[in-house]
Amino acid sequence: MIKYFDYAASTPVSALVLDAMKSWQSESYANPSAAHSEGEKAAKAIQKARESIADKIGALPSEIVFTSGASESNNLALKGVAFKHLELKGHIITSSIEHKCILNTCAFLESIGFSVTYLDPGSDGLIASKELIAAIKQNTILISIHHVNNELGIIQPIESFGEIAFKNNILFHTDAAQSFCKLNIDVDDMDIDMLSLSGHKVYGPKGIGALYIRDSRGLGLVPLIHGGGQELGLRGGTSPTPLIVGLGEAVDSFPSEPNSNDYCMVMDSLNKLNFKRNGGSNVVPNIWSVTFESDLDVEKFKVNNWLVSQGSACNAMSNVASHVLSALGLEEAEARRTYRISLPPFYISE
Ligand SMILES: *Cc1c(COP(=O)(O)O)cnc(C)c1O
Repeated sequence: MIKYFDYAASTPVSALVLDAMKSWQSESYANPSAAHSEGEKAAKAIQKARESIADKIGALPSEIVFTSGASESNNLALKGVAFKHLELKGHIITSSIEHKCILNTCAFLESIGFSVTYLDPGSDGLIASKELIAAIKQNTILISIHHVNNELGIIQPIESFGEIAFKNNILFHTDAAQSFCKLNIDVDDMDIDMLSLSGHKVYGPKGIGALYIRDSRGLGLVPLIHGGGQELGLRGGTSPTPLIVGLGEAVDSFPSEPNSNDYCMVMDSLNKLNFKRNGGSNVVPNIWSVTFESDLDVEKFKVNNWLVSQGSACNAMSNVASHVLSALGLEEAEARRTYRISLPPFYISE
């Protein structure tokens, strides 16, 4: 039987979410910016979803801007800050194990004159606070380090990074696509100025996400999409009511219990094989990066016929070892024997 264990790449849309979205597709389809009753009804539904998302991370509804997903949110955070500094440019600090959408945005910003420091993780996969402190320069305008790594499941100590950024009066952004709904997040306690999230990692639809922006107008981000003033003028385009309602419902109905059948199935299979789990001890329970000891172990694993990833889904088309596994110090051959098994996510209370 084919089993899907690639939930870090995308989750299915839950039945509750699908149901919540339905009527907004073909019955209540008015433009949420329209000044008539049907428009107002859609605007209200959008506001309710905005409140659900804000509540989940200790933010205000007015600080949530809807985007097409975490990639766009990351682009808006990085370019939005950088474009404010086009004249004098500036320095950005990130890590070498970010999602490709952060790394490629940084590469683009370098190509137009910004400078970027890429912090390498230790062998445990963690970015060290003292290295972050050492990388800060007079002209550092932004620190962007992800919360949970999508290939390894490692939880970065973002509250320490936030504190460092705050003390140095630098903006702190985190890509929380893999941690939103799954781990406790409080943007005030963690000194987070901007946070990216995505619908299709939390049983919501694809094509919707959000960027939390502290004091959204005050930060003065430059929009990527200029339009009719939607989303506080930070993201033009008619708001997609069904997708936004779906994301709100996904947040409201996110499961707090693991699907233990799936967890047992994965454990049973792995226990018969020789492997090491990458990423040290500070990892989320639903992402397993495992390096098998031999090709024979790989062959035995493949008999399961599970849908899993090598590296992340985004790297799957290229034949090189993923930048994340290389940064952890894995050899090319080890990287080839490495698989990411990602299970149905649930809320992890501490
Ligand atoms: C999935 C993912 C993204 C991209 O999210 P989209 O909504 O598909 O654009 C970005 N960062 C991380 C860490 C992810 O896991």
